[in-house]
Amino acid sequence: MYYNDNTVVFFNGEWVKAKDLMVSPYVQVMHYGSGVFEGIRSYATPDGTRVFKSKEHYERLLFSAEKMYLKVNYTAEEFTQLTYQLLEKNNLSNAYIRPLIFAGANMSLTPAEEVHVMLCAWEWGKYLGSKMLDVMTSSYQRPNPKSCHVEAKVTGHYVNSILATTEAKNKGFDEALLLDANGNVAEGPGANFFFEKDEVLYTSPLGNILPGITRATMFELCHELGFKLVEKYFTPEEVRGADSAFFTGTAAEVAGIASLDKVPFKLKWEDSLGYILQAKYTRRVAFNEYGNFSLV
Ligand code: PMP
Repeated sequence: MYYNDNTVVFFNGEWVKAKDLMVSPYVQVMHYGSGVFEGIRSYATPDGTRVFKSKEHYERLLFSAEKMYLKVNYTAEEFTQLTYQLLEKNNLSNAYIRPLIFAGANMSLTPAEEVHVMLCAWEWGKYLGSKMLDVMTSSYQRPNPKSCHVEAKVTGHYVNSILATTEAKNKGFDEALLLDANGNVAEGPGANFFFEKDEVLYTSPLGNILPGITRATMFELCHELGFKLVEKYFTPEEVRGADSAFFTGTAAEVAGIASLDKVPFKLKWEDSLGYILQAKYTRRVAFNEYGNFSLV
């Protein structure tokens, strides 16, 4: 699904076939989760293939690496250039790009001297699909910010995400919404969360969440559209039965939510602020905003 016999990945300074890539069974990441990664998208645009907010993603990757004591010898600009080469070598345009920096062989709980760098890409549809989502409040909390660097995108943190998504799916929901240690809404397992009430949008503040690049794009778009967007703590009680809600993320893009804990949101998605932001986001990433139609 992610690669075929011809797929090329970047690994430790070389271009290798994905099928030939080998790592030691003693890599620390596999045992203890000490790796950092990104999820980036490229889009076909009128000017050719463009990686959306590449600089922001690679700066976050380098920030995450630093937090995990992983030494990296590439700059964000170099990573961006390598990404364009990766896309070209694999003949990809609308693609999902996955950089991964991980700790090499080391069975101690100390930073690994050996650090591996991999970049791979594949075609991937919208992560949460296009249908309106039924979401449940998870019984799992996001990791406590005093137990790890929640603002870094660390491989091991996603054990929490897997548990939350699996619980939701096992209970017949599409996705989970996780709270922080104080009972406030934090985010989804792989996306940030917004809801709308009385024409105002709300999202959780930084501190218990991954500072999403799509989330930051929502701030830009809301500013441009004159939408009121407020960062504040809120509980699931405040969200249930509000006007509308959505997840944002590079992989998920803007994904509308139909209900939380079986309580439907009041507005039809097409009448919500999220719908307008979704349309605007689709055009922003494809550098196609000033094309033939505009919603505002
Ligand atoms: N929160 C979590 C836990 C995520 O995994 C992601 C996806 N990277 C996001 C939020 C959204 O981040 P971004 O918009 O930068 O993709």
